[in-house]
Amino acid sequence: MTQLLWLRSDLRVRDNSALSAAMGNGPTVALYLITPEQWLAHDDAPCKVDFWLRNLAELQRELGALNVPLLIRHVPNWQQVPEALLSLCQELDIEAVQFNDEYGVHETRRDAASASLLAQHGIACQRHLDQLLFQPGSLLTQTGNYFQVFSQFRKACYRRLQIAPPVCRALPKAQAPLALALQHDPLPSSVAGFAATPLSIQQLWPAGEAEAQRRLQLFSDEQLHHYEQQRDLPARPGTSQLSAYLAAGVVSPRQCLHAALSNNYGEFDTGNPGVVCWINELLWRELYKHILVGYPRVSMRRAFRQHTEALAWRSDPEQLAAWQQGRTGIPIIDAAMRQLLATGWMHNRLRMIVAMFLTKNLLIDWREGERFFMRHLIDGDLAANNGGWQWSASTGTDSAPYFRIFNPLRQSERFDPKGEFIRHWLPELATVRAKDLHQPSCLGQNAGRLFSLPDYPRPIVDLSKSRARALAAFKSLPQAAQLEVE
Ligand SMILES: Cc1cc2nc3c(=O)[nH]c(=O)nc-3n(C[C@H](O)[C@H](O)[C@H](O)COP(=O)(O)OP(=O)(O)OC[C@H]3O[C@@H](n4cnc5c(N)ncnc54)[C@H](O)[C@@H]3O)c2cc1C
Repeated sequence: MTQLLWLRSDLRVRDNSALSAAMGNGPTVALYLITPEQWLAHDDAPCKVDFWLRNLAELQRELGALNVPLLIRHVPNWQQVPEALLSLCQELDIEAVQFNDEYGVHETRRDAASASLLAQHGIACQRHLDQLLFQPGSLLTQTGNYFQVFSQFRKACYRRLQIAPPVCRALPKAQAPLALALQHDPLPSSVAGFAATPLSIQQLWPAGEAEAQRRLQLFSDEQLHHYEQQRDLPARPGTSQLSAYLAAGVVSPRQCLHAALSNNYGEFDTGNPGVVCWINELLWRELYKHILVGYPRVSMRRAFRQHTEALAWRSDPEQLAAWQQGRTGIPIIDAAMRQLLATGWMHNRLRMIVAMFLTKNLLIDWREGERFFMRHLIDGDLAANNGGWQWSASTGTDSAPYFRIFNPLRQSERFDPKGEFIRHWLPELATVRAKDLHQPSCLGQNAGRLFSLPDYPRPIVDLSKSRARALAAFKSLPQAAQLEVE
């Protein structure tokens, strides 16, 4: 009768589908596998691994209140997971393993191999929908394909929300204490191979469900109704900053959806524009995970639009390093990259601006940016990161058309008009007037006041020439493929 709850990216007790199912079926033991080789191979950021560990410590306490012991086991990589699960199940006489679905190619293979090995030994595996609002494959076009266009996907989501909005599960009642002699590794505070996370980053992202719920509540009460006007302004706290908690499963998308609905009289497509807009962002998150399942090539470092593989990306290690370190000489780009390095997070508008700058103005392969982001983001998520990069590089589904290239100076003028965000992250520009921070004539030979500052680099690229170069590179793709781009 004993159930094993295998926790992965669902580090919470409230509204956890697999936990509810396990505890509904019988006495439950929880397991978390520390898999450092796999995490390194997946470019998981040290601050993200640290966030997982800190959340596990909180979760251990929450599970303790339900009398569910949390076992920790070390397994180098996912190839060894099926055997590790089997041996634990045999040790504890487990009847069924319960887990919430994850969607990458490696995750899917790991889970299939585990289920198959356990089945050979008479142990059942039960998978649950938890990371998403809708089961991938349950929302398809009329021709039976996965949606590729957001507006069509959203319509299908709206129809489903109208008929059957996903419901949050109640917190299970505590079970009787288990009389099991359990041997397990203690929960580590760090994992070899991952650099220590600075306290400043840990303080920005406190662990635990209570913190995730606090953020959700605060955002719903104070910001949600202004989200549409504020969400693009990086100097304002206009977005929820819940992405790290959603990615680690410390809060569920169902909880987010219901918090939004309860602030909009249950409406998702009408009513307050801020709420409608925020729910749309949750649906972008949903779309990119469905894409991962429907078009698995995107999780294998391949472009969604396959003809764009022929694009003549440049190799320029110096410019790539300047972008990574926030010293391109374009203030908004450098401020954004420094925010990423210092906090493990970057505002969405800035992610689009820096991604477009790397892939269009520098014409450097989107995969370089995708990898760098994964190695630094506390909310690094394969589907959203890949989706965001391929959107910006015009290689993805429903992505920015290749000819619509953001001018980073126009973007900073529009979204950081007073230069508050730029000055915060680039103290060397603290005394520069806002209009000089967004001054296009500062580029090229006509270097203005900004670029005579000794501590700030001159721009590494001419924005208009590099824009023309990117357009030419995209236009030179084979004719048939070009039609596909349009
Ligand atoms: C190049 C690039 C890379 C990105 N990489 C990631 C990533 O690794 N992990 C990640 O969670 N998001 C990623 N995003 C999406 C987005 O930038 C972040 O989700 C958002 O900035 C998180 O801040 P927030 O929690 O305040 O979001 P809010 O604006 O409050 O949105 C609420 C939630 O909706 C989801 N969401 C919002 N926008 C998007 C989007 N465009 N695509 C998918 N989901 C979205 C997130 O889970 C977010 O927490 C990326 C975007 C781009 C352009």
